[in-house]
Amino acid sequence: QGAVPLATVPNPSDRLLGGLLSPDFDDRACLSRYRAVLYRRVSRHALSPHLVSALRRYESLHRLCAPGTPAYARALQRLRASSPPNASADPPPCSYLVWTPDAGLGNRILSITAGFLYALLTDRVLLLNGSRDDLDDLFCEPFPGSTWILPEMDFPVRDKLSIDTVQSLGSTLGRGGDALAAAPWLYLHLVHNYKTPDRLFFCDDVQAELRRVPWLVFQADNYFVPGLFLIPRHERELARMFPRRDAVFHHLGRYLFHPSNTVWGMVTRYHGAFFADADERVGIQVRKFKWAPISDDELYGQILKCVQRENILPGVGAPRANATTGGRPPKRKAVVVASLYNEYSEKLKDLYHEHGAAGGEAVSVFQPTHLGAQHFSDRQQNQKALAEMVLLSFADVVVTTSVSTFGYVSQGLAGLRPWVLMRPDHGKAPDTPCRLAPTIEPCFHTPPNYDCRAKTRADTGRIVQHIRHCEDFPQGVQLL
Ligand code: GDP
Repeated sequence: QGAVPLATVPNPSDRLLGGLLSPDFDDRACLSRYRAVLYRRVSRHALSPHLVSALRRYESLHRLCAPGTPAYARALQRLRASSPPNASADPPPCSYLVWTPDAGLGNRILSITAGFLYALLTDRVLLLNGSRDDLDDLFCEPFPGSTWILPEMDFPVRDKLSIDTVQSLGSTLGRGGDALAAAPWLYLHLVHNYKTPDRLFFCDDVQAELRRVPWLVFQADNYFVPGLFLIPRHERELARMFPRRDAVFHHLGRYLFHPSNTVWGMVTRYHGAFFADADERVGIQVRKFKWAPISDDELYGQILKCVQRENILPGVGAPRANATTGGRPPKRKAVVVASLYNEYSEKLKDLYHEHGAAGGEAVSVFQPTHLGAQHFSDRQQNQKALAEMVLLSFADVVVTTSVSTFGYVSQGLAGLRPWVLMRPDHGKAPDTPCRLAPTIEPCFHTPPNYDCRAKTRADTGRIVQHIRHCEDFPQGVQLL
């Protein structure tokens, strides 16, 4: 399991994270659930009792409605028969929100989280509908005594979902009349290319109508949580669940995403090899995007300038005190680099090996994997990516790449405001290599930018005080 340095053990009795986690799980089936606390810094973000009770209530609902239950069988039967909701009858006890995978693992973790919050707010049951390679042996079940995996064979909606899907919210609203109220299921297209008709999802009147639709299927490559904070009917409940709005992903992410035993094995082995003996742990996540080109040398220079200027890592060149005495250095810093490429960690490693760290500190640099390219729906790649996100979340300081959802997940699970490597400017590193993020919350990259009352375009970053444009991606918005 990898040695756990005593200095990092916060309060071993707090394995339920202050009530965030249910005690009703078998520890062995998912080793990470109650043990990640031993590796992470204590959360500095208060958890509201209201969120805890909402989670326990949700767990009961999920148990009642999950695959394998009579309520689920009935709901599925009605969906297969395409029966419209009965307007005069009481709403059925179980209605569903089905997640569909899109984009990389970071995007997926964020869209599942946003979907879960929507499910919490609307008393729906969240189910994941992916292929085996998307979902098998990646996460543990988050809800006690049941599953959140929609059995592949069960679900009659098999078409590829896109902005053109006939059953999308946008298309259905376009048909007018009572098309929406009569729909046995609807597709919510919350992908970055969505247009105004699908953006109406974030409007109160549309939300009122959606309540009657028993099955909502959604696809998103986005952290649309800030959009939920724009919907008046959810305002009060959200304020009670999250009196501090800046830790929504932090809490929900730590609640939902427990790596499977296979992934946890990787995490603890990496931790044992790289982090366990260090006095201070630094995680650096380096991502290159086609739309923000920068040369390797330029990017390496940016990383180095960032970590040395912000005193995350020491300068080089002064003699190492322990080099002559052979004693223990005053401080051992371990750096884990997560990246598809190994150039940056290799250069950093050479730098500290060849020149030593100023002040006699010892700096060691590691990189668990360098896979070269990104593959979607590849089980092993997802497992490695998750292991690295979780490992980074054990760091004391994190440096991330702007706009990367991989970085957002790591910083959110860690509960740390990251140092963000700012976007290159015409292929060059910007003068300010990195900035401390104003919040640990992820950025919602493509907000609706729509004013539901005035029925016109509007800037989502200017509607309410606690939703502002993101520093790392100004088109996006985030909770502060
Ligand atoms: P984003 O594209 O940076 O927003 O992050 P995503 O996680 O959504 O997509 C990138 C995908 O590329 C990941 O899910 C991984 O599959 C892969 N990837 C990117 N960076 C890394 C890395 O540092 N380590 C590993 N193991 N995989 C990575």
